[in-house]
Amino acid sequence: MRRVFVNGYGVIGRRVAEAVARQRDMELVGIGKTKPDYKAMLAVSKGYRIYVPSEKEAQSFAAQGIEVAGLTADAVRAADLTVDATPDGTGAKNLALYRELGKPAVFQGGEDPEVGEVSFVSECNYDEARGKRYVRVVSCNTTGLCRVINALIRGVGLSSARVVIARRAADPEEVSKGPINAIVLDPVEVPSHHAEDVKTVIKGFDVVTMAMKVPNTQVHIHSFIGRVRGESVTKDQVIEALASSRRILLLESKLGFKSTANLIELAREAGRPRGDLYEVVVWRDSINVSGNEVMFFMGVHQEAIVVPENVDAVRAMLTDLSQRESSSMTDASLGIPLKL
Ligand code: NAD
Repeated sequence: MRRVFVNGYGVIGRRVAEAVARQRDMELVGIGKTKPDYKAMLAVSKGYRIYVPSEKEAQSFAAQGIEVAGLTADAVRAADLTVDATPDGTGAKNLALYRELGKPAVFQGGEDPEVGEVSFVSECNYDEARGKRYVRVVSCNTTGLCRVINALIRGVGLSSARVVIARRAADPEEVSKGPINAIVLDPVEVPSHHAEDVKTVIKGFDVVTMAMKVPNTQVHIHSFIGRVRGESVTKDQVIEALASSRRILLLESKLGFKSTANLIELAREAGRPRGDLYEVVVWRDSINVSGNEVMFFMGVHQEAIVVPENVDAVRAMLTDLSQRESSSMTDASLGIPLKL
């Protein structure tokens, strides 16, 4: 059993903690939390041990009647590895603690690439994370792009991609964030950081991204335009390449998938916890080919897509299991692929 501590119990940490607890070869040491709120109470009711950064937080938890198992450093020491899911930039600060205690850690995509020795997407570069001490799971959009680009490089020789990303402006709980009635170019300059981030995983790939924030809290939409080596490609070849990954879900609009809302409804109706879609969705009937050019729409559920990658990163760092073995275990535990 690999003992895993999840530090930070927000959008990503809550999901990763639950996924870790579902793995038969992993034990959840506990979760790191700073606020004694209802989520802390629910975590206790799930049987999770709570660790806090310092005595100050321990006192505020005690005042709220929530039992704390110890300090963050105790949990890091007790664990074989920490998955850090704290807010952007906090992970980099926590690195000092993990280093001091000589413990490995997985970081998230809100950190600069330098926080890890490797930026990670399971199907693309699992083996590069083998035996590493510090690994960064890239952000949601980058994970979705890397899965799709990797499948198309392998299957049809994709040579370049140009992608326009309509980003959900905030997560459902982030009530203080906008925009409410605007589309914000984010950033105005081209390319957006996503392209550079893809290249930290798929090195040297010719990719350019442009991004804007839209008033929506569920799912990013990518308009993807790529070219393959050679003179032409068929739609069937593209579909076959994408279908080779369990973590890419091909859906058709004739079944009612016409918007981001339908994707979340699908996950809810299928009984996925929290309505989570771990797969990147490609609209099969949006796939269009013209000579060596291929284009389609894809959707990324920002809250969920990186969850399987975090679990696989733990195995790549701590075990001898192959990518195929690890992803099979992860996917089986999370019900991937979603069956219609
Ligand atoms: P979040 O704000 O929802 O959660 C972070 C949690 O960590 C909060 O509950 C916060 O109170 C807590 N926290 C703050 N300081 C802490 C500390 N010192 N110790 C323990 N807990 C602490 O953030 P999130 O959306 O889950 O993002 C976490 C990371 O995942 C970021 O790097 C982010 O960029 C990345 N990410 C987020 C998304 C997304 O869409 N939300 C998608 C992919 C990756």
